[in-house]
Amino acid sequence: MRLMIIGPQGVGKGTQSVLLSKAIGVPHISTGDLFRSHASAQTELGNRAQEYMNAGELVPDTVTNAMVGERLTGDDTTNGFLLDGFPRTLDQARWLTQTLGPERDLQAVILLEAPQEELLARMLARGRGDDEPEIIQRRLELYRTTIQPVLDHYANLLIPIDGTGDVAGVHNRILAALTERAGRAPAGTGEPAEVTGSARRTTHKPLWPRPHWTVQ
Ligand code: AMP
Repeated sequence: MRLMIIGPQGVGKGTQSVLLSKAIGVPHISTGDLFRSHASAQTELGNRAQEYMNAGELVPDTVTNAMVGERLTGDDTTNGFLLDGFPRTLDQARWLTQTLGPERDLQAVILLEAPQEELLARMLARGRGDDEPEIIQRRLELYRTTIQPVLDHYANLLIPIDGTGDVAGVHNRILAALTERAGRAPAGTGEPAEVTGSARRTTHKPLWPRPHWTVQ
């Protein structure tokens, strides 16, 4: 399945992405993680990205798109992928739609949401190098001003998810919502899935192999 997860910093995208990518068996592609590993390996790309990251600014599209484009040529992406932190601007979204083409386009966009106070508290608690109060503020402001056109671009694919509460609860909400979405796709011959929340039992073909429905 080809997915993207979107939401403000601190909403738990990273944690949920790791769980979700394991549950549905696709690689988790996080542009923040890719930039951080380039930066710690001091590659040319990493050195260019570092100053933008330190300031809480977006790395220029040319650099970011090239890095994502290269990652999406990986063999592990043929059965799908979960993009996290990309696209963040309308230009990146347009580039991605064009690069993937109709055959490989995204199938769902998970929009994870939580109130601003909870986001600030979570980011201060995780204590990452670029998590100083002013930088956090700058990233949240940047998110709010750049994300709406991206949400409009993906209006038909958006699945809003409440990101508050415990990790397992949010994970199960995401899986239930994806199952519900899959249930609206053309029927196939999948196994019935046990889900929580508002999603119903379905015999439609799952969008991923052997789902794991709960987090221990
Ligand atoms: P994150 O881990 O998603 O909070 O990203 C950390 C930093 O990486 C951001 O503050 C940006 O400097 C950079 N970054 C991550 N994703 C993107 C993107 N899609 N476009 C531009 N810069 C990005």
